[in-house]
Amino acid sequence: MNLTFEQGDALIVVDVQNDFCPGGKLALDEGDEVVPVINAMMAQARQADIPIFASRDWHPRHHVSFDERGGPWPEHCVQDTEGAEFHPELSLPSETRLISKGARFDVDQYSAFDKTGLTSELVHLDIRRVWVVGLALEVCVKATALDAANNNYETILVKDGTRFIDKADAEKAYSELEAAGVTFN
Ligand SMILES: [Zn+2]
Repeated sequence: MNLTFEQGDALIVVDVQNDFCPGGKLALDEGDEVVPVINAMMAQARQADIPIFASRDWHPRHHVSFDERGGPWPEHCVQDTEGAEFHPELSLPSETRLISKGARFDVDQYSAFDKTGLTSELVHLDIRRVWVVGLALEVCVKATALDAANNNYETILVKDGTRFIDKADAEKAYSELEAAGVTFN
């Protein structure tokens, strides 16, 4: 993969955590296959001096998004558990800016932009364009890319760097993203 990173770009890596990979509590069949793709992208981003953001789902126990509380998901990504750790082969550079989300008891956050302060950090860094990858396509990746586009960032989603839970939902997500002006690489 040869990406054309430019000054003013940022890379946003969404939720590449054990629970979303095979063996995890909310596993995507091929979730771990994004890891080498994203590692290659992060190496290029570092070389081009492009800032890297990595979000993680970071839920307290008994979170409102879990089925035990009437939420849509099985328990996953509980703070300080192995499932919430980034995939062990994900080579996040030490200068990666971390975003924790879903840490409030009463609400969930799918988007890395949702009240995390990410927009202000992008403004601070003079970012104009963002590259989005990670898990899962039709949930947190879609929400993040839509928020980026709606905040007037040129937004590129790298298809090889994401995986979906459900194929039909993934197709719908791609249409929504395209309609919002997101482009695909
Ligand atoms: Zn979650």
